[in-house]
Amino acid sequence: MTISILTIFPQMIHEILSYGPVGRGVKAGFLEINPVDLRDFTLDKHRSVDDKPFGGGPGMVMRVDIIDAAISNLKSQNSKLRSIASKAVLLSPQGKMFNQQVAQEYSKLDHLILISGRYEGVDERVREHLVDEELSIGSYVLSGGEIPAMAVADAVARLIPGVLGNEESLISESFSAGGNKKQETRNNDNEIKPQFDYPNYTQPAEYRGWKVPEVLRSGNHAEIQKWREEQARKKITSII
Ligand code: SAM
Repeated sequence: MTISILTIFPQMIHEILSYGPVGRGVKAGFLEINPVDLRDFTLDKHRSVDDKPFGGGPGMVMRVDIIDAAISNLKSQNSKLRSIASKAVLLSPQGKMFNQQVAQEYSKLDHLILISGRYEGVDERVREHLVDEELSIGSYVLSGGEIPAMAVADAVARLIPGVLGNEESLISESFSAGGNKKQETRNNDNEIKPQFDYPNYTQPAEYRGWKVPEVLRSGNHAEIQKWREEQARKKITSII
């Protein structure tokens, strides 16, 4: 899978996504992270990607023609490959909310194109004509789409087979519903209900009088499993 990130700060993407499991997954060839510099698609000597908003108002708006040129360039590369599954996604606080379910859908694609806005955001025609969906990582406004794009890329990348190395980590992970669709429970909006990971402890077994639960040191795997399931359930009820 390739995750392309359209941005005016490609170096940010290189830096953050080269660490940890995602960085190792890239090195091992399980996925490609492709930061695309939007300034490579500008036509003026200042390499401007933005302009003043029609009708007036504060700030600058990212231009539709520059973003179109960058997406078209990526899609022309796609079209050389047969039957590629791709999606173009605009990061925006106004989009649908990102969650593990969306990450799972995206992880099945061959090519995910993430568009990071800056300034006052992007020309509305990008949303209207150029992307498949608009995606938010939360109900707050950040200065740019790079952090949202990296959050999405990271969550998607760790679901690609091989990236984590130890696939077992995925099975018990929060929101993963045991890695098994049959175990999913959904709320009235058909969203997957939260399913949290169990609590983990490591050495020292006692620190400042805070003890690791005895059952985890008992060696009784059935009891450990039962305890972990109970604790994970308790975590959910404590936030609902
Ligand atoms: N004027 C826009 C508004 O009020 O909706 C906010 C623009 S924001 C300063 C600049 C860029 O950051 C956006 O175009 C988007 O790409 C990104 N961004 C900010 N908050 C985000 C969020 N919660 N989720 C996804 N992207 C976000």
